[in-house]
Amino acid sequence: MAERAAYADVIIDISHEQIDRPFQYRIPDRLIGAIPIGCQVLVPFGRGNSLRKAYVIRLSDTCTFDPDAVKEIQDISTDMAAAREQMIALAAWMRQEYGSTMIQALKTVLPVKETVRHVEQKRIVRCEDNHVFEAYVQLAEKKKWKGRLRLLEALKETGEIPWFLAQKQLEMTAAIIRPMEEAGVIRLDSQISYRDPLSGGCACQNQEKPLLSLNPQQQRIVDTILSEYEAGIRTPCLIHGITGSGKTEVYIRLIEGILSMGKSAIVLIPEISLTYQTVMRFYSRFGSCVSIVNSRLSQGERYDQFERAKRGEVRIMSGPRSALFTPFENLGLIIIDEEQESTYKSEQVPRYHARETAIERARLSDAVVVLGSATPSLEAYSRAKKGIYRLFTLTKRAVEGSSLAQVQVVDLRKEMEAGNRSIFSRALQQKMEECLEQKKQMILFLNRRGYSKAVSCRSCGQPVGCPHCAVPLTEHTGSRLVCHYCGYTIRIPKTCPSCGSPYLAGFGTGTQKIEMLVKERFPEARVLRMDYDTTNGKDGHEQILQAFSAHEADILVGTQMIVKGHDFPGVTLVGILAADMSLYNGDFRSRERTFQLLTQAAGRAGRGNDPGSVIIQTYDPENLSVRTAAMQDYCSFYEEEIRYRKMLAYPPEGSMCEVMTASESAEAAGRWIDKIALLINQSYHGTMTVIGPSDAPVARIRDFWRKHLFIKSNDHRSFLEALERISELEAELHKDKVYLSVTAL
Ligand code: ADP
Ligand code: ZN
Ligand code: ZN
Repeated sequence: MAERAAYADVIIDISHEQIDRPFQYRIPDRLIGAIPIGCQVLVPFGRGNSLRKAYVIRLSDTCTFDPDAVKEIQDISTDMAAAREQMIALAAWMRQEYGSTMIQALKTVLPVKETVRHVEQKRIVRCEDNHVFEAYVQLAEKKKWKGRLRLLEALKETGEIPWFLAQKQLEMTAAIIRPMEEAGVIRLDSQISYRDPLSGGCACQNQEKPLLSLNPQQQRIVDTILSEYEAGIRTPCLIHGITGSGKTEVYIRLIEGILSMGKSAIVLIPEISLTYQTVMRFYSRFGSCVSIVNSRLSQGERYDQFERAKRGEVRIMSGPRSALFTPFENLGLIIIDEEQESTYKSEQVPRYHARETAIERARLSDAVVVLGSATPSLEAYSRAKKGIYRLFTLTKRAVEGSSLAQVQVVDLRKEMEAGNRSIFSRALQQKMEECLEQKKQMILFLNRRGYSKAVSCRSCGQPVGCPHCAVPLTEHTGSRLVCHYCGYTIRIPKTCPSCGSPYLAGFGTGTQKIEMLVKERFPEARVLRMDYDTTNGKDGHEQILQAFSAHEADILVGTQMIVKGHDFPGVTLVGILAADMSLYNGDFRSRERTFQLLTQAAGRAGRGNDPGSVIIQTYDPENLSVRTAAMQDYCSFYEEEIRYRKMLAYPPEGSMCEVMTASESAEAAGRWIDKIALLINQSYHGTMTVIGPSDAPVARIRDFWRKHLFIKSNDHRSFLEALERISELEAELHKDKVYLSVTAL
């Protein structure tokens, strides 16, 4: 139908006006068949019928407008900037691949322009007089001016920082800057000196640190990828390198090479790892042609950064998945660090995956994709093994004398048998004592998922739940119970809401509890805690990391967020308190995720010159994830896990998706999910397996009841066809006030 369509819905000039509203135009006979979705056309618009550029987002045979009044497309417009053309093509690809409307896809790839207060291109420069500078550092240390110290520390390394980075990454404010400026320690300079990265040299003002020389493994990867790039080869590459093996250093050299060929680069880093430390590593090498986009930027600020990239002022854009849409005119390289991270998958429609989308963007822009990880996703690794990606490995720690930590697995059942009821095994207690005696640092990692801080009734066993969402409330300090889905908060009730019994008690172990127990057991130790609660504030996350880095604490207690990619050379001990906690959540990827978390956690120990040790406490030492993570043996994990996926046709060996219906009426949500199950079972009997339907794990959120099912198949083509048929039901569901979502897994 689409090829011969007579009408086109277009949107006018995406970045300037409302793009929510499409306008319909007639396609003149001479252009029928020549206008695909995403095409830029010229249309008469407004009262004066002045010609405007517009993008085609939908084709149809019928006119939904007054057929006598509908205007005609004038012509196809061909003067689009290359980057813009690529982004629109990318949106069209995302629309198809992830099932969204063209408008949703366009909104994702092209940031909407908002009236932005112009971002000043100021920079902060340290004073040249070392005595003045050092004296001020001492004063700031004495006065414990934390914010100022952060800035001074950064300036020590780089000499200057763009105001934009200091503000967005270092959380500097005018109140911190002004007194320092008045004291003459820093000055604000309004012109960023645009350093041409092609001229070589380091932006770093202090040249004391010479460039590292790469080890042979690193060198080979850099040489191979760059020479193949020059030879026109664009096969995606996967660098599988153990934690601390120098992957980031490899990325930096690859970027240098690509820049010297006149191209630009995108570096995706999960937001949680996009710390000041990481950003500065790039900044000190590349200077002001590096920029970042992160979630702290407003729409307008993001737009502004993208404009700078378009103009060529920025040549390296770093950030979480949205950096992928930086409109470089001459993109050469996309790096995705920690490629297995689940945050690379968007939770909003279109639910794109950054890895797949990067590969498509690279194809459109003639760039190469380089993935890196210590624990690659099964998807990426299996493609590498099949030769679809090129595989490189880094097997040694990069720092001279540093090696992977010694790992000891402790069976918690035996601890119990021996009469130890503490959450710290005897082995861990001993290591903790040693570590504190030697004035080293340690990380205690709680692999927590779900609701271990729920409060439940000892008489009837019911947890106190949220009245709007089918989840238990979570205990917080100040005797409050909070719903982590909708924010509903109450004081802990005196009696059980279900049976009236007065015996309510918290159970399980949260990070707060561990912090308390550590302080009881080691009163002299300084403890920091990092989790959902302590990082809620705007800058909590960065401040805790900085404080721990500066050895302001001996012990860092926390959840997943402490084990992701941070480099703390002072840490010699990592205690994993309950390794199996993330294993039993009914997700076919939970073993993979547990393996990744344990390996990452273990990789935090012994990154400096002192050897590290890791204690993994578990109830199930024979478990695949625990066993292979303890040996830091990715390949064994992969081989066993992929066999299991193959046997059960789980991704990456099969195609799988989750279909969910949600409605304020439980009956309607249930009726539709049953219909969908029936449709698949009848039409695709034998090629498709339906699991469910059932209540979603969280059966109600914000008063919407949620039902779901899974579809699994070995036949990708009929799988896609089935998804298409399900999406065609959407309009009907809407009439019934039921929402539909289909998510590829
Ligand atoms: P990864 O990204 O693989 O975790 P990094 O690139 O962060 O590893 O490197 C870990 C540490 O090793 C860093 O402190 C880095 O400066 C150092 N390093 C990297 N490459 C080398 C090298 N060739 N020689 C010495 N040290 C290196
Ligand atoms: Zn009760
Ligand atoms: Zn709730």
